[in-house]
Amino acid sequence: MHKVKNKDVFKVSWTYDKAPESTDHIQIKKQYDLYIDGKFTKPIKGKYFDTINPSDNKKITSVAEASDKDVDKAVKAARKAFKSWSALTGKERGKYIFRIARLIQERAREFAVIESLDGGKPIRESRDIDIPLAANHFFYYAGWADKLTYAFPNRNPKPLGVVGQIIPWNFPLLMASWKIAPALATGNTVVLKPAETTPLTALKLAEIIHESGIPKGVVNIITGAGETGAAIVNHPDIDKIAFTGSTGVGKYILNATAGTHKKLTLELGGKGANIIFEDAAIDQAVEGIVNAIFFNQGHVCCAGSRLFVQESVADLVIKKLKDRMKRLIIGDPLDKNTDIGAINSKKQLQTIEKYIKIGINEGSEIYQPKCKLPKHGNWCAPTLFLNVSQSHRIVQEEIFGPVLTVQTFRTIDEVIEKANNTPYGLSAGVWTDKGSKIFHLTQKLDAGIVWANTFNKFDPTSPFGGYKESGFGREGGLHGLKPYVKFE
Ligand code: ADP
Repeated sequence: MHKVKNKDVFKVSWTYDKAPESTDHIQIKKQYDLYIDGKFTKPIKGKYFDTINPSDNKKITSVAEASDKDVDKAVKAARKAFKSWSALTGKERGKYIFRIARLIQERAREFAVIESLDGGKPIRESRDIDIPLAANHFFYYAGWADKLTYAFPNRNPKPLGVVGQIIPWNFPLLMASWKIAPALATGNTVVLKPAETTPLTALKLAEIIHESGIPKGVVNIITGAGETGAAIVNHPDIDKIAFTGSTGVGKYILNATAGTHKKLTLELGGKGANIIFEDAAIDQAVEGIVNAIFFNQGHVCCAGSRLFVQESVADLVIKKLKDRMKRLIIGDPLDKNTDIGAINSKKQLQTIEKYIKIGINEGSEIYQPKCKLPKHGNWCAPTLFLNVSQSHRIVQEEIFGPVLTVQTFRTIDEVIEKANNTPYGLSAGVWTDKGSKIFHLTQKLDAGIVWANTFNKFDPTSPFGGYKESGFGREGGLHGLKPYVKFE
């Protein structure tokens, strides 16, 4: 029998056959209208815009652009529906929300394919993470609907009224679920706007919501870009704005709602520190680094985009990380082998490329594995920047792409100071064998979420949100109910 020697194994270079997910079962209409008052209705001004597949920049379909008049129509429908929806028992509300969760599960494959087509993320992620988590959020908050008095004992929680929800393009269906599920469970009615580059799964969700038989006007889903979002923010009859997106737009919304009766939650940018101690399980940590920054092409507000490695293991970690990066598969989002899909839009690709140039001009050492990027569409190779310091712009500013900066440290105090030296405060990761170090750091890091020996793990029961310029308010868990109620 031929004995395989270790050295032979390392010589083998793996190639994978294509394994594309089929799109045969997907139905996409030629044109999508606005979902207002339980009906798909044409936009008053008759305007539509294209939604593009970022992996080839071809048009998928066209989608209605809601004007301020459409926003007003949606808010009026939500206001009208609020009276009876908020008067329903929690148990009855819960039934509709459970139904939405089950319908998402039933159509999970369709949702996953459309999410990857419209947004560029690998099918493995939309299939295994985005869509199941979206259904789980509805399941979780459906369970709370009839238990609100237990969630807030002796406080008599009441819904706020009509909530305006504006979401980004990085986790389109998941963000819609994070926002809609707790709002409905607490008895509010909703006007939601998905991002202009990824409207399709929210519109598919509108179909499911319709199918669930929920009373008309309780959920309204309208599409459009920044102007439509601003019309929601500035509408006088909205009681709360929930926004997830860039810090720049978050600041605008904070200003626009200041001095009004509107409640506000903001989930904004981040520049998460991922900290590797010398006593960490190094191979697992390297997987964690890859997951922290290359998951969803780095389009993740809580991405671990700043790596801090203890000096004694820095060479080893960087070597292993480079080796791992060479094996990442970049390409067709619908291929089940793909690790890194397409950058969401041309505009975002330009932003990432701008930052890569800034990094090079600032004198950092760049590393990108040799990889073949597809000819058409928006692509960016996974990128490392070595020899960076705290003052570099690529260390301070959110890039929102597959770009990681690497710094080293010697002591715990030093890494705490460096990790906290950022305007953001959303996430952090700690890799160590010592529980005591984990507890010490979680106390000291200014971050809403700290993962220990893992990264980018999400669960409906766990609150998510930031400090500092990463925003305020929590989504998920019991905490996620609170921004949708008032106490009498
Ligand atoms: P990015 O810059 O990464 O595209 P944005 O913060 O602009 O992220 O987008 C997040 C969401 O905010 C999207 O749904 C977008 O349409 C919306 N948006 C953009 N500008 C405004 C605005 N001025 N007011 C309200 N919503 C906005």
